[in-house]
Amino acid sequence: ETEWTAVDEEFGHPDEDGGEPPQPVLAVVGRPNVGKSTLVNRIIGRREAVVQDKPGVTRDRVAYDALWSGRRFTVVDTGGWDPKAEGLQASVTEQAELAMMTADAVLLVVDATVGATTTDEAAARVLRRSKKPVLLAANKVDDDRLLADTAALWSLGLGEPHPVSALHGRSSGDLLDAVLHALPTTPREVLGESRGPRRVALVGKPNVGKSSLLNRLTGETRAVVDAAAGTTVDPVDSLVDLDGETWRFVDTAGLRKRVKTASGMEYYASLRTRAAIEAAEVAIVLLDASEPISEQDLRVLTMVVDAGRACVLAFNKWDLVDEDRRHQLTRELDRGLVRLPWAERINVSALTGRSVRKLAPALRTALTSWDQRVPTGHLNSWLADLVAATPPPVRSGKQPKVLFATQAQTRPPTLVLFTSGFLEAGYRRFIERRFREEFGFTGSPVRISVRVRE
Ligand code: GDP
Ligand code: GDP
Repeated sequence: ETEWTAVDEEFGHPDEDGGEPPQPVLAVVGRPNVGKSTLVNRIIGRREAVVQDKPGVTRDRVAYDALWSGRRFTVVDTGGWDPKAEGLQASVTEQAELAMMTADAVLLVVDATVGATTTDEAAARVLRRSKKPVLLAANKVDDDRLLADTAALWSLGLGEPHPVSALHGRSSGDLLDAVLHALPTTPREVLGESRGPRRVALVGKPNVGKSSLLNRLTGETRAVVDAAAGTTVDPVDSLVDLDGETWRFVDTAGLRKRVKTASGMEYYASLRTRAAIEAAEVAIVLLDASEPISEQDLRVLTMVVDAGRACVLAFNKWDLVDEDRRHQLTRELDRGLVRLPWAERINVSALTGRSVRKLAPALRTALTSWDQRVPTGHLNSWLADLVAATPPPVRSGKQPKVLFATQAQTRPPTLVLFTSGFLEAGYRRFIERRFREEFGFTGSPVRISVRVRE
């Protein structure tokens, strides 16, 4: 009996710090009313804040996407963290602690017209211990007469105070230049924008009907590859027109030539499958609907999800499926494919051509999800509600805080949650489930990694 749970471990992302580093994070810390929100709005150009300019809502949304000098980073307004902590000073120093744990750089905002208060000094004391870069903004410097007040803030021991007027935008460009200088640079996304036809892997265990389906899709007469036409297509790929669009089916030469060597075939087939999946953006995983779902099927599915590729499940040989088999299959799916509820399922027959037309729309949906990115502001307003309604379970007496999140990547969509404690796998799955309910992502795996600093 095949159990999906055998490969369950493969699905979560066990490495807590896993994946590519997300875009760098700047946390903005300071007393209430020094102008943090105003400054954050200034930094993000108010693009995202506009959406949520309803009274009382603003502070639930703590993280936003920012773009300056062609570089992207995330800005976190720590004023949105735990506003009801006991005592002002405790709350600001706690913000500073959390900012140091989660962000790549911290910006302490002080009201230059007031000068350094004991609360500012307490926060500065915490931040001086930081191994991350700390910048000091002297806000409300609306005109030159206040520059003298700015100089007084050297006393905080955080280096040069940067005078700004968040309200009027004065010198905020200089401050952002300094911020960029302090933030680490991150490598660009691995795959980048795709050019040319989208790449599809047609995979599945031997005899499931891959060659038959490819023949059906291309039509018997169409040449595998038109290399003579001067295209840059790798000769092992097939260009296939489906539903008004050209797709590149990768590594199909073996299918066409029907290479079926007896010895070591399965091993060879599995290498080819892996290579095709790696080369593709989306996989059509073909299963034989007339037979029980097997270990081999699950191995292929695991490869697709591990590789982070979008996926469409096609149940082939549907012409052989009768009432009894259909019921059986439903039970197998409930048991076997619980980890892939997000993949679209299509019942096809390469023999009769049944529902083969449905493949292209499903591929498009899956790729749209794979490419999709939820803006940081939107993501965090949703997350704040979710976490408030269902907080993470307490672990050894401690309540982990989910501070904010960003969708660090697409292809596949990858969320990074910034927390003050460990999040159990069950809670991460809960977040993924709700995330999909809210934002869709049909046909694409979604990765969730957690950045914990304890
Ligand atoms: P936060 O509580 O630190 O987020 O502070 P807010 O951004 O809500 O700002 C508090 C008050 O200070 C608001 O009335 C702002 O309009 C005002 N403020 C913010 N920045 C400036 C500034 O550069 N100059 C002046 N004069 N007022 C500012
Ligand atoms: P591959 O090894 O995955 O490329 O599978 P093939 O395309 O070679 O198909 C294996 C066998 O299944 C062949 O005998 C096909 O004729 C048969 N087959 C493929 N698709 C269908 C289908 O939709 N219905 C039925 N009844 N047989 C099919």
